[in-house]
Amino acid sequence: MRENIHPAYPTAKVHCACGATWETRSTHGDLHLDICSNCHPFFTGKQKLIDTQGRIDRFKKKYANAPAAPPRKKAAKAAAAKKAEKPVKKAKTAKA
Ligand SMILES: [Zn+2]
Repeated sequence: MRENIHPAYPTAKVHCACGATWETRSTHGDLHLDICSNCHPFFTGKQKLIDTQGRIDRFKKKYANAPAAPPRKKAAKAAAAKKAEKPVKKAKTAKA
């Protein structure tokens, strides 16, 4: 290793919001996490709302009485017509 080009890489304590702590090494110092593998739903297999600001509830409230989206017949027809208009490109043949 060359001298004076490497950053300090001391042990660092990691603290999660769920209370879990462990040690690792970091150039940054101690770490404070909101979520870790001990409490993330992917690893626990339990449903847990990470939504702390009520965004999901607000979304559900906002669209609770909204009618379902109308079928997109016109858009599909237009796309099909456009497709039919486009000429089919011929594949380039390799020169011998
Ligand atoms: Zn955690």
